[in-house]
Amino acid sequence: MSVPFLDVGAAYRELQAEIDQAVNRVLKSGTYILGREVEEFESRFAAYCDTSHCVGVGNGLDALHLALRAMGVGPGDEVIVPSNTYIATWLAVSQCGAVPVPVEPIEATFNIDPDLIEDAITPRCKVVLPVHIYGQPANLDPILDIARRHGLRVLEDAAQAHGARYKGKRIGAHGDAVAWSFYPGKNLGAIGDGGAITTNDADIADKIRLLRNYGSRVKYQNERLGFNSRLDPLQAAILSVKLKYLDSWNSRRTAFADKYQSCLDDNDLHLPFVPEWAEPVWHLFVVRYCQRDRLQRLLRESGICTLIHYPIPPHKSEAYKGDYADAKFSVADDLAESVLSLPIGPHFENSEIAGVIDNTNLLLSSNE
Ligand SMILES: *Cc1c(COP(=O)(O)O)cnc(C)c1O
Repeated sequence: MSVPFLDVGAAYRELQAEIDQAVNRVLKSGTYILGREVEEFESRFAAYCDTSHCVGVGNGLDALHLALRAMGVGPGDEVIVPSNTYIATWLAVSQCGAVPVPVEPIEATFNIDPDLIEDAITPRCKVVLPVHIYGQPANLDPILDIARRHGLRVLEDAAQAHGARYKGKRIGAHGDAVAWSFYPGKNLGAIGDGGAITTNDADIADKIRLLRNYGSRVKYQNERLGFNSRLDPLQAAILSVKLKYLDSWNSRRTAFADKYQSCLDDNDLHLPFVPEWAEPVWHLFVVRYCQRDRLQRLLRESGICTLIHYPIPPHKSEAYKGDYADAKFSVADDLAESVLSLPIGPHFENSEIAGVIDNTNLLLSSNE
């Protein structure tokens, strides 16, 4: 058998006629920067997330970076981040000249542990930046409560969580702002780079609109030191098409995740734990196993591709190593050694997921 980790071209093939039509509309429009297509996607995605504002930007990293700037984060400030996230979360903080302050996750959910946040807050702290990692919402209520008590802003990294719900309400503006990525492999993915910020805070939305476009509201009048990071109208038109299918695609992911949860059976294989208040969208299906590298190799020999998210935690990356040499983040380190992402996505066949389950169960039982 042969099961890829993910086929990002499958969504295009399913919707080819509709996407081609949208692309042609942009090509013929003569508007290639911002304009109607971007505004339409922004209002559709804001409605989907049940928020008042959405601002489209160039990618997910810029969404995080510009949102932090709009919250006033600058040199010398600190931002609380998970120790086990994708490095983009940390880089956005560093791009502001601020310092990422890592907090360890709860191992079973992979999400930042709210009980550890308060101890990490110093007078320099400005923002708490939880990540809804692998598509499962972080425990937002205690995080918002701590932030409120300390006068901090909350920015959510929802790059992996399009459509996820926390206590029944879609991720979109529980915190002060939410950053999104439309990288092709995400649950809502463009055919290139893309990103956005959703918020109910008109002031934050307005600041980001300025920052993404040279600090300018009126052409050649520059109010602030801005950047150039605008959502491409071609990507916006494609995203407007794909957004209509997001919920049904997420349901297919959930059906596959349920299959994994009920059929993978080995006492040493740790399956993801879903708290009762979380409705994840299974961007990734991540298991933990002590002999992870061996399991990955055996699955590869059976034709099944898996990935590791992520093999090197940010504090151990070449980029940050010097800054965190004395620090110890043992949960993040353990996770990097033991996590394995199984294939999941809306375009797999039932038989492919069944094949992953059968092979995994077989390999684990013959290992004992
Ligand atoms: C993908 C991702 C990003 C960055 O998005 P890009 O669009 O690739 O810049 C940020 N945070 C997390 C958790 C991600 O998974």
